[in-house]
Amino acid sequence: MTDPRIHMSKPALGDAERQAVLEVLYTPTLSMGAQTAAFEQAVAEYVGAQHAIAVNSGTAGLHLCVRAAGIAAGDLVLTTPFSFVASSNVMLFENAVPVFVDVDPVSGNLDVAQLTEAADALAAGGAAAQTWLPRQGVDAGAALKAILPVDVFGQPADYDAIQAVASQHELAIIEDSCEAIGAHYRGRPAGLLGDMGVFAFYPNKQMTTGEGGVVVTNDGQVADFMRALRNQGRAVHDAWLQHTHLGYNYRITELSAALGRVQLGRLDELLAAREQVAGWYTDRLSGMAGGEAPVVIKSTTRMSWFVYVVRLAQGIDREDVIHRLDAAGIPSRAYFKPIHLQPYMMERFGYQPGDFPVTEDLGARGLALPFSSVMNEAEVELVCSELRKVLG
Ligand SMILES: *Cc1c(COP(=O)(O)O)cnc(C)c1O
Repeated sequence: MTDPRIHMSKPALGDAERQAVLEVLYTPTLSMGAQTAAFEQAVAEYVGAQHAIAVNSGTAGLHLCVRAAGIAAGDLVLTTPFSFVASSNVMLFENAVPVFVDVDPVSGNLDVAQLTEAADALAAGGAAAQTWLPRQGVDAGAALKAILPVDVFGQPADYDAIQAVASQHELAIIEDSCEAIGAHYRGRPAGLLGDMGVFAFYPNKQMTTGEGGVVVTNDGQVADFMRALRNQGRAVHDAWLQHTHLGYNYRITELSAALGRVQLGRLDELLAAREQVAGWYTDRLSGMAGGEAPVVIKSTTRMSWFVYVVRLAQGIDREDVIHRLDAAGIPSRAYFKPIHLQPYMMERFGYQPGDFPVTEDLGARGLALPFSSVMNEAEVELVCSELRKVLG
């Protein structure tokens, strides 16, 4: 069943994956069994974490982190508007407030100079704090509780600086590493760069479980609490119909966990293939007028390529580029629409265009090209030759 079309993204699934899922169907255990335990163990070993908690999505994992960090109604959390909406939605689930800080124009990750300023101002309170807070939807006297950085496009944020801010103001760090499994920041693995980190395994990610996610942490108490919350609030020793906490059904299925074990075993191979594809793109983009290749910054000692996002030159009509590529059979996507400009965010917090200019500029010029570990060089060449025609 070969499909000659070029897709935005495509999972790398083989016989080993199919076999592993099929084998689960010969057992009666489809949830909370040996596959889940083994998958968690494997993820923990891969990143060097003491604990890994598998859940049914990256969003679910981030929500558990928000609960475990004790973030509650009215609390403030510093985070980035240049991300997938889930990284901020999890605060809204608890009626907490995402306080946005603009991003670095090269990496697209939190601008740590502004983050430092914002944390200092929010700690000081008064007029200084007001300039960082949303126009509405914030309680008087609300307290800053945490920082939620996102390792955007597979590149870790600047955690040395983020750690410094967090220690000074006693803030928890929740690392949204949903786009960065396998990445390293100055030699340290993504996921463990804060107090807790989350990976996601939707089919467009570097590895997939269909739907799924894993939280990693070195804090045993946090891990126990998350294990309880993902399983309807049942604490470790609770009987099946006893619920110590208000919890959720965030359990992963055994089929997903079995798939995840095989994919994780291939992760380094998949990441190497993605790096190769990114290299083919970057070679062809250098010297192409109108489009800039993404940059891997120095602190990223290992890149985990999630997407390949070209930055179009100022003044190029991106919609027109997308249409013309589409007419040539090449899918592409505007990437990201800033979180603060999503309708429900504007309505709730009064955000306006112009509030986070770097995020808005990146959001207006970013074009994600087809990207996966199974693309070959001829396909990359085809995408680039069409792009060259359109831009030329
Ligand atoms: C993919 C992603 C998530 C969560 O993904 P799910 O679809 O819930 O698994 C969260 N944050 C970021 C930045 C992501 O890219």
